[in-house]
Amino acid sequence: MPPGILDQQTLKLEISADGDLKVLGGVRAFLMSTSSFADLMDDFYLVLGERFVNARMYMGGRRAGLRTAPALASMFGIAPSDKAQLEKIFSDLDCSIGWGRYEFHLDYAAGKGIVLVHHSFLAEGALSKFTANGKISAIQARDSFPRCALLAGYLAGLCSFLLERDVDMQETECRALGHSACKFEILDHRIHVSSANQS
Ligand SMILES: [Zn+2]
Repeated sequence: MPPGILDQQTLKLEISADGDLKVLGGVRAFLMSTSSFADLMDDFYLVLGERFVNARMYMGGRRAGLRTAPALASMFGIAPSDKAQLEKIFSDLDCSIGWGRYEFHLDYAAGKGIVLVHHSFLAEGALSKFTANGKISAIQARDSFPRCALLAGYLAGLCSFLLERDVDMQETECRALGHSACKFEILDHRIHVSSANQS
């Protein structure tokens, strides 16, 4: 494909002849297979432990969600009060870059709810490995623990913007554990927050 701009589903993908792929009007990006990312994560889990890695991925994901939500609302000219359109943009955009497809089920009056994620790249990467000749092949139906702490944090950031209050989320069902989709629930309490840092 020649260099140019692909603007389907709002991604604004800029394909460069020099290798500096960009999305969203200038954000430098790259593509990686889900299996390669899962392989990287496997080493982090092995060396650092599930608890530490999940906490780090969650916090980083949440910061990204908190940054991304208002940036996308501004970029696409959506009022913060237009919840349906915000949910659609958040879901369409991440769907188009392969993170999965989000289903928001939020109770805006109560400030609670869940998000379902179909085809989480974190879970599906953990369930498939490259074969010796480089062809991808699903080798297991399930893993031993939920794999989507990064998405839990990212969705907590998006939902904090949507609900206009700081919330945390926890993955309670995961594709990697054999569920049909990953399920993230808004918690009644905050996590990973010190009294000096309430953001
Ligand atoms: Zn999951």
